Amino acid sequence: MAALLAVSRCGPAPVAAWKGPLVPCRRWAGAPADTVYDVVVSGGGLVGAAMACALGHDIHFHDKKILLLETGPKKVLEKLPETYSNRVSSISPGSATLLSSFGAWDHICNMRYRAFRRMQIGADGHNSGVRQAAGIQNVSWNYDQSAVVATLHLSEATENNVAWQRFLPSGPIAMLPLSDTMSSLVWSTSHEHAAELVSMNEEEFVDAINSAFWSDTNHTDFVDWASSMLHYAVTFLKPTKVSARQLPPSVARVDAKSRVLFPLGLGHAAEYVRPRLALIGDAAHRVHPLAGQGVNMGFGDISSLVCHLSTAAFNGKDLGSMSHLTGYETDRQRHNTALLAATDLLKRLYSTSATPLVLLRMWGLQATNAVSPLKEQIMAFASR
Ligand SMILES: Cc1cc2nc3c(=O)[nH]c(=O)nc-3n(C[C@H](O)[C@H](O)[C@H](O)COP(=O)(O)OP(=O)(O)OC[C@H]3O[C@@H](n4cnc5c(N)ncnc54)[C@H](O)[C@@H]3O)c2cc1C
Repeated sequence: MAALLAVSRCGPAPVAAWKGPLVPCRRWAGAPADTVYDVVVSGGGLVGAAMACALGHDIHFHDKKILLLETGPKKVLEKLPETYSNRVSSISPGSATLLSSFGAWDHICNMRYRAFRRMQIGADGHNSGVRQAAGIQNVSWNYDQSAVVATLHLSEATENNVAWQRFLPSGPIAMLPLSDTMSSLVWSTSHEHAAELVSMNEEEFVDAINSAFWSDTNHTDFVDWASSMLHYAVTFLKPTKVSARQLPPSVARVDAKSRVLFPLGLGHAAEYVRPRLALIGDAAHRVHPLAGQGVNMGFGDISSLVCHLSTAAFNGKDLGSMSHLTGYETDRQRHNTALLAATDLLKRLYSTSATPLVLLRMWGLQATNAVSPLKEQIMAFASR
């Protein structure tokens, strides 16, 4: 290795003593005074030494003379010192490739180094081990409900393009379209009722779903009358073309083994980031499925985190640095805490059958539906 040879032959030399053009240059330790070097590198620290080695290893420099000048004493590492130097360097994969190109990386690996991650992303769900290992506090509580999910076959083929949700006193039941003949069920209800639903036979389960969507047992005349009044008032003040009212499809059977129960809860990590760590998805936040926002919040986290990491990478910054990770945390906590609070409020508002609250939620929903800008703003916020 030409450069290393040059270093060892030259020995230590005061950089300050060298002045003038790069060539010719005087050799300090026994070299003839008139030796002419093609390249002189002043400073034999990590970078200067690597520069000299890289040139010395370059095929086009095989006949060139390279001089590395260093003021400090010559270092010979025969055995590793017990104590660690107070100058520790974080070497990126790109730098390791460069050091490998002239054989230095193998030396480093045979001496002392420690691999470490530059950035870890915890996307390991609401029981996140990554979050726990980092000691990040998680505010959480279990709801008094579990969700039963199942894949449903409809009684007849239909233009199945509406997601249906009905709020029952025990919790919301929702059907999401899968195809013209199939839908997916998410039925949030008390733990006892959920356990019953998963243990019933298929026929009983199908009857329970159909009557949950179609039965009028939970309606009161007064609430129905109040709802119609508001509906007429809104139509009078703001006439719109009303499309024919659709009805939820009826269910004929259920895919075997698709019936599963999930306990429901709320969770929110007090911090989404730590140096070299970011939490996304349910690892950072867990919501009730009634607003269908859980995974959408997770995808929103991804957009924001990718944006911040990409900017850091473009600017050559350390990916794990808090300076841009806190930007991600601020963006997403502002958005997610608002959705978490709204979803929790809806869950509580819809878990009651007290007439004033039933009226409040019904009027609130109808008014929101009637005021297009408000509805659009809510939808735009939820989809961020
Ligand atoms: C019944 C129900 C209905 C829902 N409906 C909707 C809906 O309609 N719309 C919506 O937006 N959201 C909905 N959600 C919420 C949505 O499902 C979640 O928000 C979403 O799945 C969270 O995704 P995640 O990848 O963050 O977490 P998870 O889906 O929990 O994935 C975490 C993954 O990490 C893995 N893992 C765990 N520990 C480790 C480890 N130590 N190392 C490596 N891997 C590990 C797990 O195996 C798992 O694969 C619903 C939730 C429920 C319970």
